[in-house]
Amino acid sequence: MTAEIIDGKAHAAALRERVAAGVAAFREQAGRVPGLAVVLVGEDAASQVYVRSKGVATEGAGMTSFSHRLPADASEEVLLALVARLNADPAVDGILIQLPLPPQINEARVIAAISPDKDVDGFSAINVGRLAIGEPGFVPCTPLGCVMLLEDRLGDLSGLDAVVIGRSNIVGKPMAMLLLQRNCTVTVAHSRTRNLSAIVRGADIVVAAVGRAGFVRGDWLKSGATVIDVGINRVAAGEGRTRLVGDVAFEEAGQVAGAITPVPGGVGPMTIAVLMRNALVAAHRNASLPVPAGL
Ligand code: NDP
Repeated sequence: MTAEIIDGKAHAAALRERVAAGVAAFREQAGRVPGLAVVLVGEDAASQVYVRSKGVATEGAGMTSFSHRLPADASEEVLLALVARLNADPAVDGILIQLPLPPQINEARVIAAISPDKDVDGFSAINVGRLAIGEPGFVPCTPLGCVMLLEDRLGDLSGLDAVVIGRSNIVGKPMAMLLLQRNCTVTVAHSRTRNLSAIVRGADIVVAAVGRAGFVRGDWLKSGATVIDVGINRVAAGEGRTRLVGDVAFEEAGQVAGAITPVPGGVGPMTIAVLMRNALVAAHRNASLPVPAGL
């Protein structure tokens, strides 16, 4: 392994500290603490874990966590009524609807119902549009965390060649937009892309968000490239055990890349830290206070 390992845990801890300091300063100025509401519909085990860890992180940052649980058979009307109440509640700065939602509920309609100024996940069409045209809004947490890691390592990204593998609405597309905003020359690859390895070989920055274990091979990479591995894949580890791996063949890639994020401990920890950051930004905007620099 010759590549530098990008320590997402350490970056996330530093961001959480900045957010906690920002929350304390906000309380002084606004006379209240930021509030983040998380809505879970149903009993999905993985979703329950995510919701719990978001609640713990919210309280750890000194913000108020509002948890709302609806039964798995809740109707869309009931969820929309809850979203309307949260939109109108001045103590709630950010609203998170844990996805996926049960099949009787139309996800797009629910996301569209969240006030754009409380949409801290940045999934609504308004915030996607704001990102596309370069207006301030909310950017999905995972790609924003990736950009923070890249800028920390590389400084100005201007002029660099970047390949984003994956074009989902929550990772690939916003990632490409953020890199374009930072003046990278961006290629977005997907399942129909031809000659992917040759395209990746030209890139200074490779962001893999595919959902396939070890998909990006070491010999696809340009020497010295910076590799951000978004993938989270659970694979068999023998004796009935499993482990998490990324979308990049880590050992191989580490012989060629200049720097690489590990899985776990890379992009993952940044996601929740950025969510806390987005909630603090939302609180400032909702209170008509300037957003502190360095967040
Ligand atoms: P999606 O399944 O929504 O998107 C996967 C993308 O990969 C699609 O655009 C798909 O192309 C593309 N793809 C699939 N197969 C290939 C292939 N053979 N060659 C090139 N591209 C291909 O996944 P997400 O974007 O939601 O997530 C991606 C990964 O990131 C997952 O492992 C997920 O668990 C992880 N993740 C991690 C987070 C974190 O906090 N670290 C947060 C969110 C996701 P097409 O569009 O053509 O189908």
